[in-house]
Amino acid sequence: MKKHNFSAGPAILPQEVIEGAAKAVLELDDIGLSLIEISHRSNEFKTIMEEACYLSLKLLGLEGKGYKALFLQGGASLQFIMTAYNLLENKAGYINSGTWSTKAIKEAKMLGEVIEVASSKDANFNYIPKGFEVPKDLDYLHLTTNNTIFGTQYKILPDTEVPLVADMSSDIFSRPFNYSKFDMFYAGAQKNMGPSGVTLVVIKESSFNKVSRVIPSMLNYEIQSNAESMFNTPPVFPVYTVLLNLRWITNNGGLDGVGAKNQKKASLIYDEIDRNPLFEGFARSVDRSNMNATFNLKNDKQAEVFDSLWNNANISGLKGHRSVGGYRASIYNALPIESVKVLVDCMQELERIA
Ligand SMILES: *Cc1c(COP(=O)(O)O)cnc(C)c1O
Repeated sequence: MKKHNFSAGPAILPQEVIEGAAKAVLELDDIGLSLIEISHRSNEFKTIMEEACYLSLKLLGLEGKGYKALFLQGGASLQFIMTAYNLLENKAGYINSGTWSTKAIKEAKMLGEVIEVASSKDANFNYIPKGFEVPKDLDYLHLTTNNTIFGTQYKILPDTEVPLVADMSSDIFSRPFNYSKFDMFYAGAQKNMGPSGVTLVVIKESSFNKVSRVIPSMLNYEIQSNAESMFNTPPVFPVYTVLLNLRWITNNGGLDGVGAKNQKKASLIYDEIDRNPLFEGFARSVDRSNMNATFNLKNDKQAEVFDSLWNNANISGLKGHRSVGGYRASIYNALPIESVKVLVDCMQELERIA
């Protein structure tokens, strides 16, 4: 029996997406060949890549608005330096809202001047920094829209004319959002999009050619764009699986549809965290993530009982990240609300027997 999968990533995907991907590995669309044994230059795969790029921009509301969708390798982590390679000429600003932002800052500093415009490190990143001034002379301002580890998420973007760049690894395609406010954003697939092994980059074509440095070909957005994400052999299996998931999102009401469901799931778990006297939330209420709900037991001594309750309820992947402790319920698009109800039942059961 399939478990209730609260894993932070690689994470749950819709069952029909997994079945579709498995089927294509055996044979793609009755062509007598497997997805993973055909040329990436074949018409079959070119069509797959084109549709994946098209559906990405379409779902994000960016189609025909001067953006390009790229499917690259190296994970979100390679984007930390690739962003700077392509966009950092004089000075970049970063908002430090967690572990991933910290890593992005460290990488960008290798290539130029980087300033930390704001940080929530003072409270172990349990909030999204607000109310700061953004210097006007930045090449770009980088932020992490959803902090997977700490469970915080941007609801309102900083008010600035400076080009915005974002790591959206753990909340892309999870909600309607002002995607057109960004000049560029990226996301590793394995949180809310597909299997690991591919990274979606969405970039304004006007952001090409912004720097004077020489950029290695593989790290050059313009070269990758001109090659339609096939400068070298693309990761065909993850791209195909992402495509199936983008179709699934499209058939489930697009970002409005999945966003409304995600809101319901998040309310269900946060209402219980706030109601149940045994638990407390980690992130500040106004900044709570609709993707990763972080919470703790007020009394650690109850952990053993609680852990056996949710384990027996067939729940998987609930342990918090080591830098926060406690619990983290990742409730990505594909997680059904029934799974959240099972978790809430475990929390209520603990209250009953404690
Ligand atoms: C998981 C994650 C990353 C790291 O992604 P990789 O693809 O493993 O490099 C970066 N940023 C955020 C917000 C993440 O959740």
